[in-house]
Amino acid sequence: MEFNLSGMTGAVEDNGKPLKVLVLGAGPAGLSAALYAARADLEPLVLTGMELGGQASLTNTIENYPGFPEGVGGSQLGELFQKQAERFGARIEFDVATAVDLSNRPFKVTAYNREYLTDSLIIATGASPNKLHIPGEDRLTGRGVSWCATCDGWFFRDKDVVVVGGGDSAMEEGLFLTRYAKSVTVIHRRDTLRASAILQNRAFDNPKIQFIWNSVVEQINGEEAVESVVIKNVLTGEETVHPTDGVFIFIGHTPNTQLFKGQLDLDENGYIKTNMLMETSVPGVFAAGEAADPHFRQVITSAGMGAAAAMQAVKFLEKQEATE
Ligand code: NAP
Repeated sequence: MEFNLSGMTGAVEDNGKPLKVLVLGAGPAGLSAALYAARADLEPLVLTGMELGGQASLTNTIENYPGFPEGVGGSQLGELFQKQAERFGARIEFDVATAVDLSNRPFKVTAYNREYLTDSLIIATGASPNKLHIPGEDRLTGRGVSWCATCDGWFFRDKDVVVVGGGDSAMEEGLFLTRYAKSVTVIHRRDTLRASAILQNRAFDNPKIQFIWNSVVEQINGEEAVESVVIKNVLTGEETVHPTDGVFIFIGHTPNTQLFKGQLDLDENGYIKTNMLMETSVPGVFAAGEAADPHFRQVITSAGMGAAAAMQAVKFLEKQEATE
């Protein structure tokens, strides 16, 4: 693809040079990367994508991020990350990358507003939990509908909750929910679980966990908060209303990496492959957070990966400068 600069404004820095660091994504990984790159005087630019704050901002209260003994609101923590990065010179733009060309340096990133050239790229585009796409799901998100037991389980002390899904996440998070909830009902679309044997056995042995097999959730009901779900048995077609206080959905994640297909090495699930140094298959391109992490998926681990990616970007640029 030929890159045509004519007629574009702001594709490069005012001095005519490419950006030193462009960060894609403004969740914990992206903003931590921006903080570290800014403190190294690299004046990073962050493109927010569609979700400033990332998945963490969807969480009511984050109680496992160190430094906040009373917990901190998900969106509040995102704002603090942003403020801290900006304090050292990071710039945040509300723009969404739509195409990248990583075949040559400087790398080219096309976004809604304009195109960017950059000497190094940090990808922190995150992952999105898959949705059921059923009535009530969006409206009741944060009011009983959740994608994170670790974040929201505490709010369901002595309540009844349902878990949707039959994989490792559903079992692991369902087991975690039994610390708080009075009952956890797993609703799975088949009659066998996909989860590993060890998690299955733990779930079967837990007296708080029940299963509804061969069933899908068709609708989530409630005015101010979740009150019930409509369940359909896929074998008989029978529909029932199941009262519940919470709906936890664990039907897989999709990393936001479609943009990089064919340009970076991705694993079979679409996660960007990195080494311990957050390096991708293209020198000068780093990845951090859930776009590259199907395993930990925590604010603290994503922030750590972002910081590490920026430190490596600094080293990469220093090396380039020394050889040029
Ligand atoms: P997953 O393995 O893809 O499981 C997703 C589950 O959701 C499956 O049971 C699937 O049903 C169900 N599902 C998918 N779409 C659905 C829909 N539209 N409606 C209803 N149900 C739907 O995802 P995951 O559990 O998040 O795990 C992802 C990866 O991370 C896996 O490799 C897993 O092993 C790993 N992981 C490991 C651990 C651990 O080792 N402790 C913990 C978490 C995750 P079907 O079974 O019918 O397809």
